[in-house]
Amino acid sequence: MVTSSNTQSASESYRGLQYPLGRGFFPEPQKPYEIAEGVYWVCMPMPGNPDHINLWLLEDGDGWTVVDTGMNIPSMRDIWEQLFEGFMKGKPVKRVIVTHLHPDHIGLAGWMTRRFDCRLWISREEYMMCKAMVTDTGKPAPDVAINFYKAAGVGEEVLERYRQRFGHFGEMISPLPDSYRRLKNGETIEINDRYWQVIVGSGHSPEHVLLYCPALKILISGDQILPRETSNVSVMPPEPDSDPLDEWMASCANIREQMPGNVLVLPAHEEPFKGVGVRLTQLIEFHKDKLSQLFNLVDEPKQVVECFPAVFRREISGGATLPAVGETLAHLNSLIQRRMVMRQENPDGVDTYLQLPDACKFE
Ligand SMILES: [Zn+2]
Repeated sequence: MVTSSNTQSASESYRGLQYPLGRGFFPEPQKPYEIAEGVYWVCMPMPGNPDHINLWLLEDGDGWTVVDTGMNIPSMRDIWEQLFEGFMKGKPVKRVIVTHLHPDHIGLAGWMTRRFDCRLWISREEYMMCKAMVTDTGKPAPDVAINFYKAAGVGEEVLERYRQRFGHFGEMISPLPDSYRRLKNGETIEINDRYWQVIVGSGHSPEHVLLYCPALKILISGDQILPRETSNVSVMPPEPDSDPLDEWMASCANIREQMPGNVLVLPAHEEPFKGVGVRLTQLIEFHKDKLSQLFNLVDEPKQVVECFPAVFRREISGGATLPAVGETLAHLNSLIQRRMVMRQENPDGVDTYLQLPDACKFE
């Protein structure tokens, strides 16, 4: 992350998008930047890739509404403590809205709602799935999950790493509150006398919330729309036959239809930008292109790990292998749903994928 002081550079265009604050501008963690009236951008560094997350502080009468929270790690809690007393002037957090269940978004929601005795606002599937996933904490990896990765052609070394790391999801998430306020697609909620429309996307997570404020012309997009990275869309072991990519592409098309062109998008990672329709089209085309390359590659039977070159430009190895399996399977399952590819289960336990003879070419 490039952190600059709170003086932004000039507007920049890059790959069809406009960056009104320039590219590479991120406010310092303790100095939120007012990006629209009463809407403040908090950028917190975090370990891993991406190396930061954008969180949003909305003025809300005599307090604040917080959108996304960061991971449950000391460095992020410390930044919040400084913000509570500093920038937020000791005014209470009145509600915590979470876009989706990943630890960088939901991690401190339980901690914050308890601290301020306020409620968590989240969609039902994100809440329920997060609750279910944290119950894996401390458990050994189940056999079905090991077999899922074996069937993809993953080697023993990477499987061992998976066994070691399984069950750590919950460690970055402070225990969730036992009740929540459900956010539903299409509803409007009121924050500081302004209406915000809830839009639900899917594919990166099951019921991902975006918030659109027509009066301010801003869209808080979470991980559903990022300006440069494409969000991870993966098949996971508990639901091996799922087709998250179709849900993802349908969501992108659906959001594109609803958004006027001049909206300022506030993504959870990277910089705010304009050009939401262009970006959503880029995301859809990106995956269509991968589907087409993958279809061409499986003119002979291929294991999942042999399909990586169609989906990734970089070499995949080590810790990148399992996420790559998830993403590659998302594309393969989409082709299976389209009746273009079939999965063959082989006696050695490793599946192969092959074009169906009568499949029409992907378009
Ligand atoms: Zn995410």
